[in-house]
Amino acid sequence: MSAIEIKDLHVAIGDKPIVKGLSLTIKQGEVHAIMGPNGTGKSTFSKAIAGHPDYTITQGDVLIDGQSILALEPDERARAGIFLAFQYPCEIPGVSIANFIRAAMQARLKDGEELDATGYYKQLYAQMDSLKIDRKFTSRAVNDGFSGGEKKRCEILQMAMLKPRFAFMDETDSGLDIDALRIVSEGIEHMRGADLGILLITHYQRLLNHIVPDFVHVMYDGRIVKSGDKSLALELEAKGYDWVKTELAAS
Ligand code: ADP
Ligand code: MG
Repeated sequence: MSAIEIKDLHVAIGDKPIVKGLSLTIKQGEVHAIMGPNGTGKSTFSKAIAGHPDYTITQGDVLIDGQSILALEPDERARAGIFLAFQYPCEIPGVSIANFIRAAMQARLKDGEELDATGYYKQLYAQMDSLKIDRKFTSRAVNDGFSGGEKKRCEILQMAMLKPRFAFMDETDSGLDIDALRIVSEGIEHMRGADLGILLITHYQRLLNHIVPDFVHVMYDGRIVKSGDKSLALELEAKGYDWVKTELAAS
């Protein structure tokens, strides 16, 4: 079993420190949730893990099975098993979903190996069906003119095809109506299993009604300030984030 270990991570954007000492270990098979108010550094944290060039890791380390991944490029991190579902997926006009995911899967094969096209489409259609994505979308450009819910489903589709070991899902629930939330949650729940460690980043508790996490962490001002089980999410929902701020101020 593999684990990703985030140790005392500090991330800056330019000169501005955003993530300020975040530590967290996610094992394959576990589902963690990070909750926190807007602007606390949740997206910064997840993009830094994926290797986004705008985010500088100034201190700490990220290890997979004891090996640091910080020297790896984003594509190498993906090959090491990391997947990031973006809070705001970007549009890629001119590149069809089918070609995009196929290129991503091809890139993960060894040199000289060729992705089997028939098998690929079979798998793609099966995953699209289970995520209730119309097959017409296959030839549409990635996220181009998609609704918020369609973009989020497209993220889950990529994840289902790429089969990562560690998935960071940044507010995959935001902007979804009740039906889309259910479909997306079922998609994630379906992938849940011994081979996948999941980190759900969310602002609201409602996603966690569908996907019950093993661990819940509260992030505030760039670090995890409280950890617990699923009851912590309910407590947060009832008391609001001010409760955490007040507790911190008192301690
Ligand atoms: P969260 O996801 O928890 O809402 P973010 O990580 O998006 O928080 O943002 C944390 C802080 O970093 C905010 O103050 C935000 O304005 C700032 N920030 C995020 N991305 C950038 C960027 N690309 N350039 C400048 N500041 C940024
Ligand atoms: Mg965010």
